[in-house]
Amino acid sequence: MLAELLLKWPLIRQLRGDGDAAVSDRTRALRKKNERTEVARSICPYCGVGCGQLVYHRGGRVVSIEGDPESPISRGHLCPKGAASYELVTHPARMTKVLYRAPRSRSWSEIDLDRATEMVADRLWESRERSFDEEQMHTTAVAHLGGATLDIEENYLIKKLFTAGLGMVCLSNQARI
Ligand code: SF4
Repeated sequence: MLAELLLKWPLIRQLRGDGDAAVSDRTRALRKKNERTEVARSICPYCGVGCGQLVYHRGGRVVSIEGDPESPISRGHLCPKGAASYELVTHPARMTKVLYRAPRSRSWSEIDLDRATEMVADRLWESRERSFDEEQMHTTAVAHLGGATLDIEENYLIKKLFTAGLGMVCLSNQARI
């Protein structure tokens, strides 16, 4: 009788390997948040360390962003900032439109990305044309500061285009590792 009672005790049943005894239906119904997702390998966008990330997505929506255990740099770890990258892409306050403030204006207006890109290109070319030193074959009126996630190949192309192509001499990058 006592043995029978003891054998019904969840602790004893778990110790005996009958673990289901202590699992509620609610717990049993829980599913992993990444179930039925696809995964894309990426790199944290925040700093020059370049920790590896796994971006889980389902139906075109990001479900979660985790550390990539196969990254030789971070081995699955992310600092608090990198671990919060999910919010970077999903937060409702995230800016998704280009805002432009005209000279002397006090307000911002939305413009489309193509127009913004053309405006940047026009200004870049105008500055380069105005300041280009034919003797030195360079301009010091325009500089470029790269972001942390630019990789070696992208930096190579930036250096080639901006130095050899446009004559810029001031180029730097946040990622100096
Ligand atoms: S997880 Fe942290 S340390 Fe790693 S790249 Fe992102 S911001 Fe840098």
